[in-house]
Amino acid sequence: MKALRFEAWHNPPVLKDIERPTPGPGEVLLKVAGAGACHSDVSVFQDYDDALPTAKLMAPEYTLGHESSGWVEEVGEGVLGVNRGEAYLVYGPIGCGMCAACSRGQDTYCENQYTNPYAAIGLGRDGGMAEYMVVPARNLVALGDADPIAAAPLADAGLTPYHAIKNAAPHLVGGGRYALVIGLGGLGQVAVQILKAITGATVIATDMKEDAMAAAEANGAVTVAGGEGQAERIREITGGTGVNAVFDFVGITSTIELARAVVAIQGSVTVAGIANGSVEWNFFTTPYESILTNTYWGTIEDLHEVAMLYRDGHITMDITTFTMDEALTAYEKLINQEILGRAVVVPHS
Ligand code: NAD
Ligand code: ZN
Repeated sequence: MKALRFEAWHNPPVLKDIERPTPGPGEVLLKVAGAGACHSDVSVFQDYDDALPTAKLMAPEYTLGHESSGWVEEVGEGVLGVNRGEAYLVYGPIGCGMCAACSRGQDTYCENQYTNPYAAIGLGRDGGMAEYMVVPARNLVALGDADPIAAAPLADAGLTPYHAIKNAAPHLVGGGRYALVIGLGGLGQVAVQILKAITGATVIATDMKEDAMAAAEANGAVTVAGGEGQAERIREITGGTGVNAVFDFVGITSTIELARAVVAIQGSVTVAGIANGSVEWNFFTTPYESILTNTYWGTIEDLHEVAMLYRDGHITMDITTFTMDEALTAYEKLINQEILGRAVVVPHS
């Protein structure tokens, strides 16, 4: 079968013919429906290497694709309640399965992460950029009758914003609340929809790309373009009090600075973009009791909730599809900022 293999640090992945895997005990073989191209993959194959402690768990070689979906093709020994042909989303993170974090479905924060063999499906272990993939049955999240191809990006582009928003939810409960989404790519577009679906907050959104802002407006956001006076314009929308919860899906210094310039007293800033931005903290310029935090992916319970939002029609995925042979093109277009929404590789198109 064809698979997009990440073979060496600082090198683009390569399309290869490899043997179709077979599911072991407790595992399931999926016929891949879709695999999203996430910007994090680009960081992994372009920027990371053994010098970064956490990168060890994502060391090549393996098949990329950490946000995927598929139909059950074959069921391994001991797997019950999963039937051939059913559609599932794949929860990517795989922790030790034994610690307190894993026990609550939060494999992302596994207490034994540095002794685990890999970080996740598609990050250290073979992922979904292939015709077939093997996953532990425990990592399956049911999609029912919903379209599994468009659903694929939910496993990260949906899950990461959902987890961030749920954590910040106390800041958004009540009337007259404001949320700000910075960066309207794969993750940011879903963030806008989740905020509209589960909070009553006014959603403000910004991006450098006009088409990305238009798409966010179509989903109910008020957009503010970048440039001089941007923070003032955002504050004006909030009536001067500031934004109760900011979500930064870019994570460079200037976007974190924007987030801190507009956050309200007792508000929160969550940085999900992985771009190594850094800012200085100062008592006098920090709104009282405002918090600045980061977040990584989400829990398996969160993914079940995201799947329900999708199945109930609260989230619509804007995808551009690519064949297996075009998988590298999907990443090239992502790098060149030519993708609106999410690029999804569909191996059986
Ligand atoms: P993407 O390329 O699809 O989208 C990025 C968007 O940000 C684009 O629309 C781009 O125009 C916009 N942008 C870039 N610079 C900007 C700026 N200065 N101001 C406003 N907008 C700007 O990327 P994605 O796949 O949505 O990922 C977004 C970020 O989130 C990446 O850094 C990725 O690595 C990270 N990520 C983090 C997690 C996590 O668990 N924390 C999970 C997945 C992705
Ligand atoms: Zn664990």
